[in-house]
Amino acid sequence: MNLDKIFPAFFFLCVGIGALIGHAGGSALSTANGAAIGVAVGLSPLLVLALFVGVITLWCPERPTCMCGETKSSDYHFISHLSRISEHVYVYRCHYCRRMYRQHENRFELRLAEHEFQPYMVISKWGRWGRSTH
Ligand SMILES: [Zn+2]
Repeated sequence: MNLDKIFPAFFFLCVGIGALIGHAGGSALSTANGAAIGVAVGLSPLLVLALFVGVITLWCPERPTCMCGETKSSDYHFISHLSRISEHVYVYRCHYCRRMYRQHENRFELRLAEHEFQPYMVISKWGRWGRSTH
């Protein structure tokens, strides 16, 4: 399924059907109204998708809250990104307490010193951040 082609076709089909239904009503104003309703119906899958992404993001944010409790997922300062063969490692810093973290795979680790990290949080089997036990 190729959504980048199916969605525009769906959208324009909704607008066209809405305009036709509105036109069947008689005046030019009702054609515009029908097209406007078609736009709303055509965009509704995006609204549902945005709500779904919002719920998933609330359930499991990209990054856990900092140890200081001040910096939330999207508030970290991005420092660097390392890409190996199939692994991506991201380094972040807390704006408030200046702690540095390394994120890779499903782990979020506190930086103690150069090349020394302590496990902080890990994504559980339920998809939420929880304290790392190792
Ligand atoms: Zn902090």
